[in-house]
Amino acid sequence: MTPVIALVGRPNVGKSTLFNRLTRSRDALVADHPGLTRDRKYGNGRLGGKRYIVIDTGGISGDEEGINAAMAEQSLLAIDEADIVFFMVDARTGLHPADEAIANHLRVNQKKTWLVVNKTDGLEEHSAMADFWSLGLGDPHSIAASHGRNVTSLIEKVLEPF
Ligand code: GDP
Ligand code: MG
Repeated sequence: MTPVIALVGRPNVGKSTLFNRLTRSRDALVADHPGLTRDRKYGNGRLGGKRYIVIDTGGISGDEEGINAAMAEQSLLAIDEADIVFFMVDARTGLHPADEAIANHLRVNQKKTWLVVNKTDGLEEHSAMADFWSLGLGDPHSIAASHGRNVTSLIEKVLEPF
């Protein structure tokens, strides 16, 4: 079974940047996979012998109206389709009220969730992550999607049970 990883979080936290890094092969875009629709963006990734699928989403901002409501809806559907959720937050902006709203949903949803703190490049990791423990989603994992910092080691850990 190929695990499916959904990238969710507020707009601008770096979901698409991480998606691109995780799905760099030429045949990255998934044409067809049972149970997935075409409304979200799917990519194939591979680490060593292990394959995975990544879902990019538009993002949840917390006060949804109009197009934002549609994006939030996509995120909720992506969570349902996934085996693993990467809940992404932004180390540079720190904890945002909308992060708490999304975290509440994820705690209730009970999908295996990894709290991923992005944009820690140039920051002291330990203090950059301190804010995010209060989300109640366990250890925050520091990455810098645009630089590749800690991305491979994170995926290795995430794929261990698969
Ligand atoms: P999305 O809206 O969540 O998909 O976010 P994007 O992937 O479009 O990224 C939003 C902005 O954050 C872009 O300007 C990215 O270049 C920037 N960004 C993404 N990852 C990082 C990172 O690791 N470090 C820094 N400094 N900027 C990043
Ligand atoms: Mg995006």
